Amino acid sequence: MPTEPNSAGHLECDLLVIGSGAAGLSAAVTAAWHGLAVIVAEKEPVFGGTTAWSGGWIWAPLNPLARRAGIIEDPDAPRTYLRHVLGNNFDEAKVDAFLEAAPRMVGFFEKNTAVQFEGGSKIPDTYGDAPGAGTGGRSVIAAPFDARGLAKLVGRLRHPMRETTFMGMTIQAGPDLGAFMNVTRSPRAFLHVARRFTRHLADLALHRRGMQLRNGLALVGRLLRSAADLGVDLRTSARAIRLLQEGGAVRGAVLRTEAGELHVQARRGVVLAAGGFPHDPERRQAMFPADQQHRTLAAPPATGDGLRLGESAGGHVDATLAAPAAWCPVSLVPYPDGSVGRFPHIIERGKPGIIGVLADGRRFCNEGNGYHDYVAAMLRAVPPGQEVASWLVCTRAFQRRYGLGIARPAPLPVAPHSRTGYIKAGRTIAELAEKCGIDPAGLERTVAAFNTHARRGEDPEFGRGSTVYNRYQGDPAVKPNPCVAPIERGPFFAVKVVPGSFGTFAGLKTDASARVLDAAGAPIPGLYGAGTDMASVMGGRYPAGGINLGPAMTFGYIAARHAAGVTGYEEEGRG
Ligand SMILES: Cc1cc2nc3c(=O)[nH]c(=O)nc-3n(C[C@H](O)[C@H](O)[C@H](O)COP(=O)(O)OP(=O)(O)OC[C@H]3O[C@@H](n4cnc5c(N)ncnc54)[C@H](O)[C@@H]3O)c2cc1C
Repeated sequence: MPTEPNSAGHLECDLLVIGSGAAGLSAAVTAAWHGLAVIVAEKEPVFGGTTAWSGGWIWAPLNPLARRAGIIEDPDAPRTYLRHVLGNNFDEAKVDAFLEAAPRMVGFFEKNTAVQFEGGSKIPDTYGDAPGAGTGGRSVIAAPFDARGLAKLVGRLRHPMRETTFMGMTIQAGPDLGAFMNVTRSPRAFLHVARRFTRHLADLALHRRGMQLRNGLALVGRLLRSAADLGVDLRTSARAIRLLQEGGAVRGAVLRTEAGELHVQARRGVVLAAGGFPHDPERRQAMFPADQQHRTLAAPPATGDGLRLGESAGGHVDATLAAPAAWCPVSLVPYPDGSVGRFPHIIERGKPGIIGVLADGRRFCNEGNGYHDYVAAMLRAVPPGQEVASWLVCTRAFQRRYGLGIARPAPLPVAPHSRTGYIKAGRTIAELAEKCGIDPAGLERTVAAFNTHARRGEDPEFGRGSTVYNRYQGDPAVKPNPCVAPIERGPFFAVKVVPGSFGTFAGLKTDASARVLDAAGAPIPGLYGAGTDMASVMGGRYPAGGINLGPAMTFGYIAARHAAGVTGYEEEGRG
């Protein structure tokens, strides 16, 4: 356990972790479990970073939960898949390190800590046609967690993202979300929702926050519980501003705290896990296409501190990735107080009866493909000089069934969102187009052509419903194609979406042990990078949901084991 600072404001530990998202906390828990004295420095008054706002899915192929669920796959399949999808950006050493450690990481946490998981046995990889693609079982999610288990730490836990909760209540993809979507259709779903909501209201009254943590918030809650159990020194409002070096090795950092500057000596080094640079305007301007229209979903403190600290010690940022960020289409939500929220369009794009169009009214992609691909297609399709934007177009009936952005499905009212102008409505397609600023004739042509085939469940233009991933996102009750239905009876609705991101992919170049590399490719002693501070092992591609948190958890685990000098897996037990 680290000691209190001496009178000169100096503190010692074995490992200093900068940032308290998935990567930082994974490193901290792993290192502490292996006997190191660990300090976590978090610059915000709350722990959790973007991880706390996330869906919480962790891509970790061949994980023990899949094995226990009876999903047996060829052990080489995930590697084959990544080799195919990552193409030129496939970094063999790093990918192999990830694939070897990811299932062990899951096993380590579930055996030794409060981090328990549920399996995603039905969640397929994004590119079902690629060799080695998984059809389920490669992802896990932290099991729901009751925040009472955090005792006083709950006061230092980030609140969830407003747009992805229902009145502050986190909802988990899968059966939980399914119940919310079917609340008016099934008594069982109604009971589930009623139970959850009643508990939530009681939590709000008693604790002023939701206490039934799910998704990324459950992951952060469980990691924090584990870190506290292992004696990790968890510090908030402690911003790392400078690295301390001795003879070329990184041996700590200076933290800016409310009590002044604190010099932390870290005998085994420092892990940079400060959440990448989605909120660093300068680096974004240099690396993002169409940055002016970009609206990131990442938490505001991700301002690129980790990258700058790494560079100050000789590290460098890998700019060769296929994309600099993990794209997601976003709509802007006007609130009564004048603020503007950001809603991630993850779910409804894949349902039958919605299309995405550009200002000329044309479709430009298979809307049911991954979120990253939707934005990448939009960036490609919009002519230079024009605003990068598209509109998701559907009927009112579609919106009542599946929701449209933050306008939730029935029984919640849509009128408030029409009044703010978030949802545009028209009795005819042409009227809707006028209201959105889309070419009316272009949109009429597109909808007519789409409907001709959609009545038969076909989408010859873009092949909606042609992959397992598409069909997973669709609605099995719609036949013959769960992803395609015509857009016929008005009124018609639309919402505008612009490019956004879950966070950045570009980051510090690291090796298979998560060590930050210098310009010559040599590891900088004592300096590790994990999570979005390291260049993504996925090379700027998006092969599956969970490919941010999977590597973040895994390379945090790898960095900590390296710092602790651990090579075997025996003492961690079998997963
Ligand atoms: C809505 C949404 C849904 C998502 N869903 C998923 C999903 O299901 N699966 C998936 O894989 N990915 C998902 N993502 C992406 C994923 O959440 C991020 O990639 C991931 O959380 C990044 O983790 P991290 O540990 O690198 O950084 P973070 O979680 O952002 O943590 C970094 C921390 O470092 C702190 N910090 C910054 N600078 C300093 C400093 N100088 N000193 C001290 N502390 C500092 C920050 O305050 C922050 O708390 C989602 C993202 C969003 C927004």
